[in-house]
Amino acid sequence: MTDNPATNFIREIIDEDNRTGRYGGRVQTRFPPEPNGFLHIGHSKSIHLNFGIARDYGGTYNLRYDDTNPVTEEQVYIDSIEEDVRWLGYELNKSNILHASDYFDQLYELALKLIRDGNAYVDDLTVDEIRQYRGSLTEPGKDSPYRNRPVEENLDLFERMRQGEFPDGSKVLRAKIDMASPNMNLRDPIMYRIVHASHPRTGDKWCIYPLYDWAHGQCDALEGVTHSICTLEFEDHRPLYDKYIEMLELPHHPQQIEFARLNLSYTLMSKRRLLKLVNEGHVDSWDDPRMPTLSGFRRRGYTSQAIKKFCDVVGVAKANSVIDLALLEYVLRQDLEERAQRAMAVLDPLRVVIDNYPEDQVEEFIVPRYPQNEANTETRVVPFSKVIYIERDDFMENPPRKYFRLAPGAEVRLLNTYYITCTNVVKDARGEIVELHCTYDPQSRGGMSPDGRRVKGTIHWVSARHAIDAELRLYDTLFTKSNPYDVEEGQDFISNLNPNSLTLLKNCKLEPSLADAKPGMNYQFMRKGYFVADVKDSHPGKLVFNRTVGLRDTWAKQQQKEAEPAA
Ligand code: ATP
Ligand code: MG
Repeated sequence: MTDNPATNFIREIIDEDNRTGRYGGRVQTRFPPEPNGFLHIGHSKSIHLNFGIARDYGGTYNLRYDDTNPVTEEQVYIDSIEEDVRWLGYELNKSNILHASDYFDQLYELALKLIRDGNAYVDDLTVDEIRQYRGSLTEPGKDSPYRNRPVEENLDLFERMRQGEFPDGSKVLRAKIDMASPNMNLRDPIMYRIVHASHPRTGDKWCIYPLYDWAHGQCDALEGVTHSICTLEFEDHRPLYDKYIEMLELPHHPQQIEFARLNLSYTLMSKRRLLKLVNEGHVDSWDDPRMPTLSGFRRRGYTSQAIKKFCDVVGVAKANSVIDLALLEYVLRQDLEERAQRAMAVLDPLRVVIDNYPEDQVEEFIVPRYPQNEANTETRVVPFSKVIYIERDDFMENPPRKYFRLAPGAEVRLLNTYYITCTNVVKDARGEIVELHCTYDPQSRGGMSPDGRRVKGTIHWVSARHAIDAELRLYDTLFTKSNPYDVEEGQDFISNLNPNSLTLLKNCKLEPSLADAKPGMNYQFMRKGYFVADVKDSHPGKLVFNRTVGLRDTWAKQQQKEAEPAA
């Protein structure tokens, strides 16, 4: 895995700036989240891009909260954002955690300069009227009747706005640019609005708050950001940010560079909509393992390395597209294949009695924890005894051809242990299979053929006496449609929720080495998928595992299919 991914158009721009000495060879980036929700996987692309570039170029990066809207911000969001950024491997400390609100005084001074220079005015139109006056993409806007207020009057009104003399929504400060500009963002954008609300950081000092489009570019400029990397929807805003810097005659002019946001099939990426899922109880919480939040992915068992690798593989582009969820899972499996310890877990247990195995005998098999990696010699102890559990679907009473697992009279290999042959099937009154009887071949110890006879099937198992009980949670996509917004008229994305996104298996049997599984540690339950002990709900007495991802690689299959010539 590389921390220095192949170059891309953003790195090429920076290389060129470094060559020409544009910013004195300095590279400074920022990630500017609004603390109104938990970060999702789309944000990780932006974080990894901004902070990864700064790190690779020996530069600096800031996390700068866009805390310009005091009404929607909460401390839990701030805490979770910092936890997620650190989890991705980017260091945060006092000096690189900043806030738009750190600049409120300076922004206010800059606004006064624009007013004094005749470049901003106080407008008494309502927000609705401002929208009507703005025109459309095909029609120019109309000047507000308040547009030509004298400077002194603007200064006086703006000061009184700040003092709290006017109610919310009664006045705004607007930049005076061009109501006929083909770029709507330049049609006298609003800079300040009146909001009588206390701010988590500045308390009641302000009752006017800057809009993002006014605050963002100036914060970048005041902070010394060299390359302000953001998503494509801000491309049309760049002329406005440039215009502000020009009108303010700021000494430092950051270069904004836009890239296509990450979209993922079956996945919503909008904090507002994710909040709706939480608030309406469609998921348990922001970190529900089905959520596309970083905390959800973490709890599900994703590693930060897999997520960063995915961002690298996807790369940066100038055109929006939707990435196949199967690609994320493919990258994840590659990461977990290396990282995950192996263990045995029976999800749907069927009792098997080995008739010719001594009643009280226990054999301990010492097997590798990481059989995929010869260099790692850690082992685990797997006990074997007369009664074991196997997976119910590893037995068929009337098997079709080519079924190589257990069936009456058939022989299979128990992973790492012995060959067994099924001799008898026990059913209850309703005809349901409750128990199998088998014999084992003592000569096949360690799963080796004693006489060269071939056994095609190998199944996993757990010794009944030694098994530990656990709850396993299996997940499917949160939405049934690849595009969650593809809905019938009058419906919203809620109608596409997958009713089967969570399956609870409460009666699972695990091998005893899993008793001390640490939450967050990745396992492969052989033949069943990658699992992780749940950080919230798993305790030594009651183990709960989340399935991170199954073993079946749909991505590789798909690639193979596409590569095959059409029949
Ligand atoms: P949301 O709709 O989820 O709230 P947002 O863009 O409003 O998204 P912010 O907190 O403002 O959320 O996002 C911080 C930064 O993350 C922005 O600079 C934005 O460009 C970037 N970002 C958000 N979503 C994505 C995405 N899907 N892919 C890449 N970058 C993203
Ligand atoms: Mg935003």
